[in-house]
Amino acid sequence: MHDHENFERPAIIIPPEQMHRLVDREIRKLVQRRMPFREHISYNENITPFLDALEALNREIPFNGLRWSLEHAETITPENIERVKKLGGGIALDHKMALHGDVFIKSRGLDQALRTTRLLQLVDSVIPLAMSTDAFRAATFNPWVGLSWMVTGRSVSGSEVLAPENRLTSDEALKLFTKGGAWFMNTESEMGLIAPGNLADFAILDRDDFSVPDDQIKSVSSVLTVMDGRVVFGAKD
Ligand SMILES: [Zn+2]
Repeated sequence: MHDHENFERPAIIIPPEQMHRLVDREIRKLVQRRMPFREHISYNENITPFLDALEALNREIPFNGLRWSLEHAETITPENIERVKKLGGGIALDHKMALHGDVFIKSRGLDQALRTTRLLQLVDSVIPLAMSTDAFRAATFNPWVGLSWMVTGRSVSGSEVLAPENRLTSDEALKLFTKGGAWFMNTESEMGLIAPGNLADFAILDRDDFSVPDDQIKSVSSVLTVMDGRVVFGAKD
């Protein structure tokens, strides 16, 4: 089930009964078998019934640390962030507002855009958090476009689409693309950090993203990328 966000159109609202059925019939089987699950929901209107149903299931079969997550969760409210935290869940965000923020302003207004997504509140909640692309369906594969949006609050067109109190530091933003994602794959001991014992996956960048002027963050690129110990990209190849 997916509420397929298209910010040019009204939100898709899934009937709460359908959401309860999904949890009762399908997610119940995963919880019984201790299998991690990820549910793609963009709109808070759909997150609420999903969490209602999950809380009921958790009362019946305690999750006890089972990893699960919401994907996207763009318009999640502070109340629902707390509920996800209590159930031990994580949130894999995406950075499509960097591309679609201007359309979002037209369809839903600037005020709501500036609060979408509540990045700082999510980081401060210390729930497992990552920035992702939804296999490039929701956002570009280029992380620097997303980092630029998170740090400067501006979309690719240069419009302000994120309020100053929702923005992150470069360090916080980078963690969402690296260390943050490892939790969702259950690979914290080997991915997400350059450290002894971790896989040798890394990139050497053409400039220091921590010190470049804000308007240059989106054009940072790799000069050498190594994955699994193999060079997979070289700028001069
Ligand atoms: Zn999705």
